[in-house]
Amino acid sequence: MTKIYAVVNQKGGVGKTTTVINLSAYLASKGRRVLIADIDPQANATSGIGIDKYTLDKSMYNVLLEEAAIGDAVQQLTEFNLDLLPSHPSLAGAEVELVNAIGREYRLQKGFESIDGRYDYILIDCPPSLGLLTVNALTAAKDGVLIPVQCEYLALEGLTQLMQTIELVQKYLNPALDVRGLIMTMYDGRTNLSRQVVEEVRSYFPGKVFRTIVPRNVRLSEAPSYGQPINVYAPKSPGAIAYQILTAELLKGDAKLKSGDSQ
Ligand code: ADP
Ligand code: MG
Repeated sequence: MTKIYAVVNQKGGVGKTTTVINLSAYLASKGRRVLIADIDPQANATSGIGIDKYTLDKSMYNVLLEEAAIGDAVQQLTEFNLDLLPSHPSLAGAEVELVNAIGREYRLQKGFESIDGRYDYILIDCPPSLGLLTVNALTAAKDGVLIPVQCEYLALEGLTQLMQTIELVQKYLNPALDVRGLIMTMYDGRTNLSRQVVEEVRSYFPGKVFRTIVPRNVRLSEAPSYGQPINVYAPKSPGAIAYQILTAELLKGDAKLKSGDSQ
């Protein structure tokens, strides 16, 4: 059974793309068959993993408009043992082009049905908005959402609106949608603020925040410009170690969910 998670937060710059790329890379290094699905018109996951978004033949855009089968748009990144459903800047127009389309919220979900069983994990990188592209991701995310939260002042701002959107999608489009977990990112151990933010988010979302905290680490911000995930670019860096441990925590939790143990 494929696990499908949307990595979502309508705030930009909180670590969604970084989390998608590096969680995917470590899941792949643990032998899982992984697809990164980039549904952000900025295509940062696509370029961050080394694919030139301007030379793409088929992309997420063509899949959402039902002009291409998902299998024809997927790129194999053999170097990283990963697959990518790339984004393209044209995706910015898709929200408008699909506005009157039948089943417009289900386009990505339908696409994933056509590749059922091919992957163990699909991670969807969402844009910084709660529009139709994110709704497509939330509708397709049958195992829930991962929410990166930056350890910064006003970290909780916007999360209420995000939770409302998740509830609406759960009610009308995807009854299985759940918050799989919040991931604290860009933690700075030298400041009290970072620590306070983690405590505050944990008290707002008891039991929902991953124990592993991702530190602020310059290696994580350098890696995308080399088109490499952190396990290749700087495997011994603190950022790499954090994403490796986070991956183990996710896998462990998923195994427990599977066996029905809620502990
Ligand atoms: P989003 O996808 O939510 O917009 P990104 O993952 O692109 O966020 O991260 C925003 C910026 O911060 C990027 O330049 C990224 O390289 C950098 N970044 C992300 N996580 C970290 C981190 N833990 N430490 C340092 N820089 C980070
Ligand atoms: Mg991003």
